[in-house]
Amino acid sequence: MIDIKNYNKDNVFGKILRKEIPSDPVYETEEVYAFKDINPQAPIHVVIIPKKEYCSFDDFSRSSEEKTILAMIRSIAIIADILKLKKGYRIISNIGDFGGQEIPHFHIHILGGKRLGRIITP
Ligand code: 5GP
Repeated sequence: MIDIKNYNKDNVFGKILRKEIPSDPVYETEEVYAFKDINPQAPIHVVIIPKKEYCSFDDFSRSSEEKTILAMIRSIAIIADILKLKKGYRIISNIGDFGGQEIPHFHIHILGGKRLGRIITP
């Protein structure tokens, strides 16, 4: 198990959920919230987060209720439809320090709007 175990409520996505800082919404349900990334890495770049508190995908997949896991996974294709990503897209979840995770509230990036190329540039 990776070493982010204690959820820190002061993280940026926690603040976005509490509306302490603004965000640009794309999709919202009882379980999930999706909004535009502030520093897009592709023409379309949206972040999907659960409303419940998990540090990372690792934490989420071990600890979350099944209905929340289902809600997160099902939201991806719904959001892809909203964003009209008919030609394809990429989902990414960075986990922990070596995974490049900056914000310790579990999130899935959804990127598209152009041909994205190889997953990692050498
Ligand atoms: P990570 O590196 O943790 O996987 O991704 C964090 C993402 O959050 C980055 O893509 C970054 O641009 C985005 N981000 C950081 N601060 C904010 C913010 O205040 N608002 C929004 N919408 N996105 C943010």
